[in-house]
This record gives sequence, structure tokens and C-alpha cells, in this order.
Amino acid sequence: MQNCRPPLTDPAQIIAINGIVQGVGFRPFVFRLAERYKLRGRVANNHSGVYIHIEGPMDKIDAFVDDISSLSPPLAQIDGIKRSAVVSRDFKTFEITKSDSAGKRATLISPDIAACDDCVLDIRSADNRRYRYPFTNCTNCGPRYTIVEDLPYDRSNTSMRAFTMCPACDNEYNHVYDRRFHAQPNACAQCGPRVSLYDHQGLLVKTETSLQAAVKLLKQGCIVAVKGIGGFHLAANAELDDTILRLRQLKNRPDKPFAVMSKTLVHIQQYANFRPLEKKGLLSRQRPIMLLLKKKPFPLSALIAPGNKFIGCMLPYTPLHDLLFDESLKTLVMTSGNLSGEPIAVGNEEAFGALAHIAEYFLIHDRNIVTRNDDSVVLVTAGKNRLIRRSRGYVPAPIYLKNQIPPILACGPEQKNTVCLTKQNLAFLSQHLGNVNNLKTYAVYKETVMHLQRVLGIEPEVIAYDTHPDYLTSAYALENTDVSRKIAIQHHHAHVVSCMVENQVEGPVIGVALDGTGYGSDGAVWGGEVMIAQYDGFERIGHLDYVAMPGSGVAVKEPWRMAASWLWKIYGENLFDLNLPLFDSLPAKKIELLGEMIKKKINSPLTSSMGRLFDSVAAIVGIRFKASFEGQAAVELESTAQNAASDINDLYDYGLEYKSLYTILIEPMIRAIVQDVTDGVGINVICAKFHNTIIHLVVDLCDSIRKTHGLNRVVLSGGVFQNRILLQGLLRQLEICSFQTYSHTLVPTNDGGISLGQAVIAASLVK
Ligand code: ZN
Ligand code: ZN
Ligand code: FE
Repeated sequence: MQNCRPPLTDPAQIIAINGIVQGVGFRPFVFRLAERYKLRGRVANNHSGVYIHIEGPMDKIDAFVDDISSLSPPLAQIDGIKRSAVVSRDFKTFEITKSDSAGKRATLISPDIAACDDCVLDIRSADNRRYRYPFTNCTNCGPRYTIVEDLPYDRSNTSMRAFTMCPACDNEYNHVYDRRFHAQPNACAQCGPRVSLYDHQGLLVKTETSLQAAVKLLKQGCIVAVKGIGGFHLAANAELDDTILRLRQLKNRPDKPFAVMSKTLVHIQQYANFRPLEKKGLLSRQRPIMLLLKKKPFPLSALIAPGNKFIGCMLPYTPLHDLLFDESLKTLVMTSGNLSGEPIAVGNEEAFGALAHIAEYFLIHDRNIVTRNDDSVVLVTAGKNRLIRRSRGYVPAPIYLKNQIPPILACGPEQKNTVCLTKQNLAFLSQHLGNVNNLKTYAVYKETVMHLQRVLGIEPEVIAYDTHPDYLTSAYALENTDVSRKIAIQHHHAHVVSCMVENQVEGPVIGVALDGTGYGSDGAVWGGEVMIAQYDGFERIGHLDYVAMPGSGVAVKEPWRMAASWLWKIYGENLFDLNLPLFDSLPAKKIELLGEMIKKKINSPLTSSMGRLFDSVAAIVGIRFKASFEGQAAVELESTAQNAASDINDLYDYGLEYKSLYTILIEPMIRAIVQDVTDGVGINVICAKFHNTIIHLVVDLCDSIRKTHGLNRVVLSGGVFQNRILLQGLLRQLEICSFQTYSHTLVPTNDGGISLGQAVIAASLVK
């Protein structure tokens, strides 16, 4: 009888890997691993990530797969590995094959990553062919999200398409053992993007070295618009008062702090304090702006962050930024290149149009920025990094959900907007889009939604939006004709749920939402809310006592209005007998007129906002009557409290009144503050006592709810929790009282996190 056994072949398997595995050096890593184990087959990118056809002895394949997860490249993030047996194709070698553009897109795009140490070394070494080349990058670093037009992540789908690699770059790109193997933005001075310097009239400055010329101009005190990775910055020498003052005047930004960039950590150390966690943040590959405590004396211009104990600092995150410094220029103000309230400029023409009246010079380059992306901002409070603005370096990495949810588009709120798109157990928050209350930002908003849907391959089945009837973002949701299922979501419910989601907590919980403005279910302006929250609903259980908000939106810009509103409510006509700084700074007539407005209910909605309570107190004690940026009074109130001695534990009286829900009575506190001001108690002390009071009244209310509802978990959300004293103090007090607490770290506690909450609430409502 003939032997009909097939010839012996090695087993073969397909290994499919998803996560952030493209554009991060994954295929060469797989290649090297296969060579090490003497396995055969091929590796390629596809729309769901990376797939490998592997052939060889099974024990070696097992070891190979183990190594894939444990040794993957620094920027890679593996979310899943699936193995299946296939028929051997008798490969003789292992190879890397071209991308396959068919199939559904499920792969993840890497965020933009700061220049790695190797690349920085390249640009600083005089004998390196990339010496001083501002667009140096490799597989471990460089632009990603901001240059991607479509998937898969190949050079032809990025704005690097315009540049053809020179033979030397091409060689690196095709050499599997090279650090630049398949680095899509690979470039050098011969073949890649170039910088050039223009004056504000658009005339080219003839110079051999645009960068060195720009450094010289900065040193002399010029304002230079610099095109970076996600948009333009306005750069200015941080030591020159005149320059910073001019920048403030021209940008029409009297007080709002500017961020600075310093050449190295050593330079930051000269003007700011940082603890180990903050140092780690500064050096992280995301390179956010870290909010650090200023040193005293402060050697940079006092005009950078007036009235603020903190300064936003970052380190250079591209070679171009690294080259903006030299031996005598160490720190630059680097503020977003935009007009107040408008999106950051990205195009060269756009920048000249928007910034020519501010910047004397423009350092531009010829690589297109596909997606605008502002700098991210991180604050460390209570021993944790907390993202205040989640953008460059973080977006579009997903937030992981506990459960699978349908594809949803959440439109976000109006202020500090981000949108959120979901797919399976992933939630993708967009970059920071700012205040969507003008047509320019709205246009960028619409562009971003479409771009994100395309590159993430998400076709939403449900749209979630804020209940506020006047938001452009709500109008966008309602005008959308592609999706029929639309769900309106209350602002503070979305706040609380966004915090539950990032902490992977399910309800019911006690949700504490303290913020500036959100549309309430009763039509009032909410913002001091305590609720029993679950994903699919909430019950409002307590709030700050209502008070009129005369002038509505104007009251946000003019804290004196909120102060006067409380004083009218408590003292009536007798308010003019009080001895408060308010009356020295404002004509009695104005305060009288405001009283009329409130009485006649003209444009004076009721509010329970905690942000507005901060405004009231700031104006009563005389810290600030008019604000030039959002939250200014609250920031100054916090800074003032920080000046007080640390042993002030006193608090003011307040009341808790229960009818159908709890009302937190503020009147006793306002009366006591007025008395303290009259008695000449130091404002540092008053501000510290005010913070103590807010902490205690929240704990008090949570305690009452625990007794009636048996709930022990407290979730904190809302912009007011950017306040360090409050967040730290409240977490501590709640924990002393044996509550389990949850606060934000991954998404902003302010309105930048709202879209995540909206998406998850919508998902639970359609279930
Ligand atoms: Zn690199
Ligand atoms: Zn080249
Ligand atoms: Fe809010």
C-alpha cells in the first residue's frame, strides 16, 4: 500500500493585532522578532491593525507571540491579539508587505509625539546629516495625528506626500534595521519641509538661516509667529516686559496667563517649582503645558501670569522648537496664535491674515497641518496628574469603556468644546476646539467631526447633545440628517457621568457637579448641583440657593453684578449702608439700576452656579469686579486663599433646607463675609474660610444623602474642581468621613470632558 501521508510542513498561523500599532515601528519590530526565532511568513498593516502570517515550529510561534506583547515598541499599544490556524504557504523568508487598504477601519492613529532623545541628539551633533534640521523624526517620535488625512497610515495619506525622499532618506526608510524604517514623516534638509522667515507684510527675509535669524529677532524683543505641529504660536522673549506688554495689548488679552517654553528643565527650575510627578509630566512624550507654582522672586516678566500663583510651562516638543533657543535665549512665551475666541491658525495664509497686526515676523514652513491641535494642559492636584485641556499628545488615543456601546457622536457643550465618537468599547475625544460660539470656530467644529468620523471609520447611529436650546453644537445635532436618533442630555448629568466613565464606576452614586454654567431642567442656570446619578438618568437632590443673575452672560464677565445681586437679595435697599469696596469702585447709580433689573426680572435668570458664587465673593471682598477672561475671579480668589496661613480651619455658617430637595442656604455666609470685610479681617483669611465652608457644606450634604439613600460613593465633576484647594480639601474630608471618592484625571473636569458623558448616557438610553 502506498503511503498517502502529506509531506511534513511546519504549522502556520495568522496573528491579528489591534491597538496603536501603525506608524510606531511595529512591523520592523515584528520582522526582527521573526528573524530572531527563524520564523517565516510576512507582516502587513491593514485597516484593523497589523496582521502576521507566520510559519515555523509551534513552540517558536508561541514564544514569538509572547514577545510581541512584552517587547513591543515604546509608542505601540496593543489592545488585542487573535491567533488562528491556516494552511501553510511555504514561505522561504520573512517579509514586510505593503499595506492593504480594503476592509473596515478599526486601527488607531497615534497622537503626535515629542522628539525622542535620539532625534534631539541628531540635530545637536555637528557631524550628523540632520544637524539643526527642524523636521527630524523617527519611528519613535514625530507628528502623527496632525498630518494624517486618511488611513492606513502611509506617507501617501499624510501631508508628507508633497515631499519625495532623497536617496539617503529612502535608504533609511527601506532598511528594516534603521530607526527610520517606514517612518512616514522621514525627511532631511535635502528633501523635506523647510522653514522660511517673513516679515508681517509677507515679504521674505533673505537669510541663510531663518531659524537663527528668528532667534536673534526674538532676543531683540520682536514677536514672532511660529508654525509648529498643530498650529501657530506667538513667541516672545519671556524676560522682556515691553514685549510681553505689547503682546498683551495687540492680542487684546490684558490678564489671562501666557504659557512659556524653556530650553531645558534646568531653566524651568529657575522660575518654577516642580515635584517628581510634575517633572515626569514635563518630560513625558506628550509634553503638555504643566501648571507649576511660580518661584519667588520670579525672574521672568511679571506680565506673563499676573495675579496668578501658577505658570504654565512646557519643554520643546519638536526639533523646530528646540532650535528656537540658544545660549542666551532660554525661555519664550508661547501662546496660541489666534485671536481671542477664534481657533488657532494653521495655514500660512490664514496666519498672515489673522496675526499680521500682532507678530512682526513669521517663521513658517511648507508642511501642511491637516488637523489643528492646541497644546494640552495638565495640573497636579492631590497627587495625581489631571488633564485640564486634553489635546496635542493625547488625542486621538481612546478612553476605554467597560462595556461595548453603539457608534455615537456626542456634540459636546458650547465652551471648551470637544466632541466624542464611540466604537465598541472605545471613546475617542477630539482635540480641544474652544468655545463654539462664533462662525469660525463652528466651521472648524464641523470640519473636525467629519475628519474624525473618516479617520476613525465611525458612522454614528445616535447623536447626543446638550439640552441648551441656543448652543450651536445643539443646532448642529438637530440639523444633522444622516442620523435620526438624537438624544438631549443635561449638562451636569453629563459632567458626573464623564467622571464615572473614566473611573469605570456604575451608578447609583452621589454626583457633585460644581461649575459655571449649564442649562437646568427647570430652565434656570445650574452649576451647584448634587444628584443621584446613573448612566441612564439622574435625580437632582440638592443645589445652591437660587439668586438672580442680572444681565445673564454679562454677569459672567462682571462679577460685581453677582455680588450686588446677593446684596440686593439679603439687604434690599439697606445695601447702600454697607461699607464694602464695591461701593468705592462702582457708581451707586449702576447698582441701583441692577436692583431694578432684578426686581422687574429683566434678563435676570435664576442661578445655582458655584462659579457665580465665587464671582460674588471675589467682588464682595474687593478682589475683582470685572473679569477679562473666564474664571479670572475664581482663580484670584483661590490664589488669595493660598496666601493665608495653613492653619485656618474656621468656616462660615450656612444652612441646609429640605423641601422636595435640599437647598444650600448661602445667605448666612454672605452676611458673615460682609461682616468680616467691615471688621477689617484680612482678605486672605476670608478667602480661606470661604473655601473651608464650601468643602464642609458639600460633605455635610453628602452625609445627609448617605443616611437617606445608603450611597457611599461620591463623584466630583465640573470646572470648579480645577481649584486645587477645593478638590484636595474635599477629597480629604470625604475620605475622612469614609466616603469612596472619584475625580477626573484622564478627561478634563471642565466642559472639555462633557462629550464623553453625553456619549455614554446616550448609549445607556438606547439600550
Ligand atoms: Zn525620534
Ligand atoms: Zn532626505
Ligand atoms: Fe460645565
